Amino acid sequence: MKSTGKFEKLGLRSGFDFVLHLPLRYEDETALAAPESAPEGRPVNLEARVLKARVMYRPKRQLIVHAEGLVLRFFNFWGSQLRQFQQAAEAGRRVRAFGELRRGFFGAEMAHPRYRIVDEGEPLPESLTPIYPSTSGISQAELRARVLQELDCADLADTLPPRLTRTYRVKGFADSVRMLHRPPPGVELSALADRTHEAWQRMKFDELLAQQLSMRFAYEKRRTRRAHALPANGALLRHFVRKLPFTLTRAQERAVQQVLHDLALATPMQRLLQGDVGSGKTIVAAVACLAAVDAGHQAAVMAPTEILSEQHWRKFNEWLMPLGVRLAWLHGGLARKQKKTVLEAVARGETQIVVGTHSLVQEGVEFASLALAVVDEQHRFGVGQRLKLRRKAQEAWPHQLMMSATPIPRTLSMTYYADLDVSVIDELPPGRRPVATRLVSAERRGEVLSRIREACAEGQQCYWVCPVIEESKEGDLQTALDTYASLGRELKGPRVGLLHGKLAPAEKAAVMDAFKSGKIDLLVCTTVIEVGVDVPNASLMVIESAERFGLAQLHQLRGRIGRGARDSVCILLFGAELSPAARERLKVVYEESDGFEIARHDLELRGPGEFLGERQSGLPLLRFADLQKDTALIEAARDAAAELIRTDPAAARAHVERWLGAREDLTHA
Ligand code: ADP
Ligand code: MG
Repeated sequence: MKSTGKFEKLGLRSGFDFVLHLPLRYEDETALAAPESAPEGRPVNLEARVLKARVMYRPKRQLIVHAEGLVLRFFNFWGSQLRQFQQAAEAGRRVRAFGELRRGFFGAEMAHPRYRIVDEGEPLPESLTPIYPSTSGISQAELRARVLQELDCADLADTLPPRLTRTYRVKGFADSVRMLHRPPPGVELSALADRTHEAWQRMKFDELLAQQLSMRFAYEKRRTRRAHALPANGALLRHFVRKLPFTLTRAQERAVQQVLHDLALATPMQRLLQGDVGSGKTIVAAVACLAAVDAGHQAAVMAPTEILSEQHWRKFNEWLMPLGVRLAWLHGGLARKQKKTVLEAVARGETQIVVGTHSLVQEGVEFASLALAVVDEQHRFGVGQRLKLRRKAQEAWPHQLMMSATPIPRTLSMTYYADLDVSVIDELPPGRRPVATRLVSAERRGEVLSRIREACAEGQQCYWVCPVIEESKEGDLQTALDTYASLGRELKGPRVGLLHGKLAPAEKAAVMDAFKSGKIDLLVCTTVIEVGVDVPNASLMVIESAERFGLAQLHQLRGRIGRGARDSVCILLFGAELSPAARERLKVVYEESDGFEIARHDLELRGPGEFLGERQSGLPLLRFADLQKDTALIEAARDAAAELIRTDPAAARAHVERWLGAREDLTHA
């Protein structure tokens, strides 16, 4: 069909795509108003006999149509329209026009109404006129015609067995879609508009059900795959667990048990380890890696930034080197020859655990036997990168442990994370002090500087985080450079260091080293320190232009302090003019220290994109359902998914096919 191409812009390909392209709103053309009494200022449907039509050139070129008691004006028109109206006038036919009415010089007037030439007594439409989401180049008329045509020839059979529609009290599918495309007059328009109408509820339910089913299918498919079983009774693991560097919190203990249980199975683990910043996820990862090593295989630990990978490397070295584990760090600072040596050792299986960034998924990285992939800050990686790491394993699928410090709100974990098993570390190691947060206007920068001076004089260390400048990374860098220079001048005493993303890896490492060992008092930095940086002696953080940061980001940054023995303070410096949204964000970080609460607010303020990481397509994740408002439906759909798979797997497949078809797979395959 000729117009397939343009409909594709709207994501419409198959017939069912059109059926599920639901109206935004409706116009009521099912009744006629009289020109003399119709209200002004809102759309009305009128009909009048056409008397004459002509083109006027003053004050502006326009087509004027005189009908009985009604004048129509068109500023953009075709010559054919003039003829159409003239013929209608000669034949005594009528115009039926839908639009807003004004009372002007000639009486009732409409500009640019939607209209049709009709004969007297022609029946009115029996349903409201749907207005569809569209895009330039596609007219409503043509889109509507196509949608309604597809609706009439599609097989609208219900994918839900009647028992389920009863249990979950949802309307029939066919009735619901027909109702939405062609609502009868008298329908409760407000319920259609806010999507609380039962027909809408059914659509949302179906959408959520499809999503839940696809997650379950992905989960089940994984159960059929083979992985190396990594039993927890190996010598290294037992030794390490007996001599841990600290006592695990109960939450860590539980996470370790869950992970070890999964690893001992011959099906691939797909577990998300969730825990607020500083909750101690790294040690859980280390234990998991030992299980792989004990079983004679390899583990890879992938982090989103070089700095973070270095921290893992250090921790792993400190903990595992004494046990004789052979570790490697694949990083950008390696000379070509060193890199080659590292890669060869990994390929031969000599290296048992390799730590790195996305460099681990590049060409040329081969594993002898990769049994476990740990992905830190998983949402920072695209689906593609995680897949690539997985493909580095040969005969068996690797177990995957994904870690995230971004707490995932409940509705999201019920939906987009439903294909994962989740462990939560909901407890911080003992001795953590809550971080006090202060909101300080940038005008009081002087006071903040004295505070830094005092802190540094007492041997504390501080971070100064420079603002994010949305438009350019270069801008961020410039701000950091300027701040570094000016703080150096203004503060005098303290030793100031600079850390930003553009430094060469070796330089970054050197700066971090100097900060860790106390050779730098104040570290001026960009958000490169946002993830995972761990310097317990740092107890003061200043975030400049805090209003420019996102909620999750502020929470992550603040999590860098409060790790040592001292009370920590996070100062949020804000500029003069705060947008309402920025004010709201600052209020949330000021009032909340619980990552889950912050995440819930973040979801509310920004939607789910932030939690889900990169996607291939820009298509919305859910078209109809709303993660905030439809919690009850999400729960119902989850239960229904379980039941449908159990009782009627074929219907479950058909349902997913109908709703998701060729859409992008959102599972954590
Ligand atoms: P995150 O979950 O943010 O990755 P880390 O694993 O980096 O947290 O742990 C933060 C800090 O707390 C590290 O210095 C780590 O060694 C330490 N730590 C972790 N667990 C405990 C514990 N149970 N007791 C004391 N310190 C711990
Ligand atoms: Mg971490």
